[in-house]
Amino acid sequence: MLIGLCGGICSGKSSIASYLIEQHQFKRIYLARTTGTPSVEKSASNAHVPSTHSKSSEEHLTFSTTDSLLEFVTLRWRERWVTTDIWDEQVVDSLLRRPFFLLVGVDAPVSVRWQRFKARCAAHKLTPPTLEDFVIRNDEHLYAPGSALGALSQRAQLKLLNSSTSIYALNQALEGLNLPNDARLRPSWDQYFMQLADLAAHRSNCMKRRVGCVIVREKRVISTGYNGTPRGMTNCNEGGCPRCNNASRAGMDLSTCLCLHAEENALLEAGRDRIGEKSILYCNTCPCLTCSVKITQVGISEVVYNQGYLVDTQTAAIFAESGVRLRQFSPPRAGVVDLSVDANNGEGGTSWLQDEYEHSIRDVRRVLDDEKFIRPIK
Ligand SMILES: [Zn+2]
Ligand SMILES: [Zn+2]
Ligand SMILES: [Zn+2]
Repeated sequence: MLIGLCGGICSGKSSIASYLIEQHQFKRIYLARTTGTPSVEKSASNAHVPSTHSKSSEEHLTFSTTDSLLEFVTLRWRERWVTTDIWDEQVVDSLLRRPFFLLVGVDAPVSVRWQRFKARCAAHKLTPPTLEDFVIRNDEHLYAPGSALGALSQRAQLKLLNSSTSIYALNQALEGLNLPNDARLRPSWDQYFMQLADLAAHRSNCMKRRVGCVIVREKRVISTGYNGTPRGMTNCNEGGCPRCNNASRAGMDLSTCLCLHAEENALLEAGRDRIGEKSILYCNTCPCLTCSVKITQVGISEVVYNQGYLVDTQTAAIFAESGVRLRQFSPPRAGVVDLSVDANNGEGGTSWLQDEYEHSIRDVRRVLDDEKFIRPIK
């Protein structure tokens, strides 16, 4: 696999690359820089501040184009490669087309990144830029038209928030994430079908809840469904169902509701003959009681759901009695993973990390106060 790390200056890209190299046998590869993205890596005197992780001459591989890099990795994709040289949209476009590539975006609060940059300047005996200078260069780096690196992070399949102030804490958090897991590159069947059910839910027009459903037989989709009013009638969200459009609580007055449920639509679409004996129904929400009896009657053998609903226990009882397997599957959460929280099972066992973060925020405030950037409002 090839992991590409992108993100702002001092967000922790190189530290994560080093972790992968030291702990998971990744090898680092480099892509020569061709376009001029605005440089942040400058001290107060405009001197360039080298990265603390310098290239070690014997083990680095540098490619002049994305194509030559891809050619190299394609032949060796079962080995583990990592790069932080994600320069622009073209690089991202080419890499994301390949099934062995994972783009990881790394971010950290700007005050924390400035602290890290100051430490880097100190290590090279250079005067650090002021916070204001750093913020201005950082904005250019992330948002400059045509070369905005911030937009690249938005395309990452995995986004990490790294406010850690020690390599040890960062490595601990990364250990919990299992970045080299191949499942990150290609979804499992459960994940794939649940994502299709989620996609179907986006077509829902019911005012109460977005529900989507997929019926699968021998790993082939035989029908999909989402909830809303029947064909030919005004959509629920355009006033088609009076019950859904007034303030009745979830699960109340169901007998006056005109909306078909996602499961009902998928069952009607597939028909009993095509469903047969080995079909699995994937639904983003646990089926209600009336859907459960229909699912049972039509001969579905297994139901997989993501989120719970109001009557999960009764639904489970119906399926248990009729011999339909029921299980919950929740795909890995999309969006930002906060390395100081999520990767540590959310148990709050990293309060000192929070302390460090608050400490750095306090430092920033102190500097701002010292420099009279903030004037009290009179
Ligand atoms: Zn509705
Ligand atoms: Zn309704
Ligand atoms: Zn239902």
